[in-house]
Amino acid sequence: MFRFRFRDEKNRYELTELAKMFVPAEELDCFAEDGDFFVIPGPDEMDRNAQKRVLYGYMSEKTGRELKWGTLTGVRPLKLFNKLVRQTGSADTAAEALKTDYLVSDDKADLLRKVWNTQSVLTFDRSPRAVGLYIGIPFCPTRCLYCSFTSNKYSRDKADAYLNALEKEIDAVSRMFSEKGLYAESLYIGGGTPSSLEEDQFRRLTDKTAASLLSPKTAEFTVECGRPDSITECKLKALLAAGCGRISINPQSMQQRTLERIGRAHGPEDIVRAFSLAKDAGVKIVNADLIAGLPGETPPDMADSLRRIMDLEPQNITVHTLAVKRGSRLIEQDKDLSYSGGDAVYEMLAQSYGTLGNAGYSPYYLYRQKHMTGNMENTGWSLSGCESIYNIRIMEEDQSIIALGAGGVSKLYYPEEDRVERVANVSNYEIYIDRIDEMIKRKEDAL
Ligand code: SF4
Repeated sequence: MFRFRFRDEKNRYELTELAKMFVPAEELDCFAEDGDFFVIPGPDEMDRNAQKRVLYGYMSEKTGRELKWGTLTGVRPLKLFNKLVRQTGSADTAAEALKTDYLVSDDKADLLRKVWNTQSVLTFDRSPRAVGLYIGIPFCPTRCLYCSFTSNKYSRDKADAYLNALEKEIDAVSRMFSEKGLYAESLYIGGGTPSSLEEDQFRRLTDKTAASLLSPKTAEFTVECGRPDSITECKLKALLAAGCGRISINPQSMQQRTLERIGRAHGPEDIVRAFSLAKDAGVKIVNADLIAGLPGETPPDMADSLRRIMDLEPQNITVHTLAVKRGSRLIEQDKDLSYSGGDAVYEMLAQSYGTLGNAGYSPYYLYRQKHMTGNMENTGWSLSGCESIYNIRIMEEDQSIIALGAGGVSKLYYPEEDRVERVANVSNYEIYIDRIDEMIKRKEDAL
C-alpha cells in the first residue's frame, strides 16, 4: 500500500491521478492520517507541478518505474505545449521545459514538437461562427472486447426509430444555426459504426445531414465506416453524393486471431476489400485506425499489421494505445493489463512511429486517455495536406463542437473567458428517442 498526505487540497485530484499511473487505485491511500505516510508539500512551499515532481520521484523510486509522459496527467499535452511556446516564444525552449519541468522523456517531447510543427503550417476557420459538428450513430455489428462507448447491436427497427429522433434534432440544430449565423467548419458522423446501418438508412442519414447541416464553408465531412464488413459500394456512393470526402476504416489489427479475440466478425481480407472499394469509389481521404497492445499481440504482430495497412495506401493512420476502461469486457478479463503491457506497447509505438515517419507520414494530432496501457498516447499520422480539421480542433478546445445523437456531448467555447461548457445528450439511445424534445430544448437553452 502507498500511503500519502497531500497538503494541497486543490491539487489532490491531479496528484491522485499521477499516483494511479504507477499503481492501481486499490494500492493507494491518499488520505492517510496516521502511521507511516509520505507528505507532499502544500502551495505555501511549492507550486503544483513541483508537488507532482515530488510525488513522481517517490513513486518512481518505490516502484522502479518511469513514465514516458513524466508528470503530465491531462488528455491534451499539446495544449500545454502551445502554452509553453506562447510563454517562452520558442518551440525548442518549450520542448526543453517539458523535459525539465514535467519530466517528459526525450522521445515524447520530440513527438509533441513534431505535432506542433505539423499544425503550425495549417490554417483553420477562426471565425466564432465556425463550429465543429458531430453526429453519433450508436450501433455496431458486434461489441469489441475493449469497447466502453455507447454502442448497441444493430437492428433495423431500432435504427429506424433512432433516425426519426435524430432527424428531429438535425432539423432543430439547422434552425438554430440559421438563427445564430453559425455554420459547420467540419462535420463528423461517428459512433458506434454509422455504416452498420442498412443501405437505405445510411443514405437517409447522409442525405439528411448534407441537406440540413452542410454549408458552402464546410471544409471537411467525415463518416466513420469503422467495420470493414459494413462497407458496400452503395454506401460509399451515398456518402460521396452527400459531399463526404473522408472516411475512417478501422482494422485495429491485421492478425486474424486478434480480430477473433476482440470480437470482430471480419478477417484481414475484408479489410483489404474495404480499402479497395473506397479507392475505386473515389474517396479522397481514408483513415485507418490501429491499436497497440491488443491482448495476445507482440511488437512483430503490430509491425506486420502496420506494414499491411500501409500497403493499402491510406492518407491517415491513427495509432491508438489500448485503453482498459470501465464498462468494457476487457477489464473483466485482465484489469491490470494497462500496467503489465506498458513495455511492449512502448516498443510497438516506437517502431510504428519510425516506420510511418520513413514513409512520409507526419504526426498531426495527439491525445491521451485514462487507463491507457503504459500511460502512452494516441497519435494521428497524415500525409501532407490530408490532416483532419475535426480531429485537431476538438483537441485544441478553442472552438464550439455541437454534438447530436445519443451520447453526444456538445462543448460550447467562450473565447472571452477561454472556457468550455458541456451540454450532454443522454447516452442511452432508447431514452434519447423518448426524450428527444428535452435534448433539443437543452441545446436551444445553451446556444
Ligand atoms: S466499433 Fe467502436 S463503438 Fe463499435 S463496438 Fe467496437 S469499439 Fe465499440
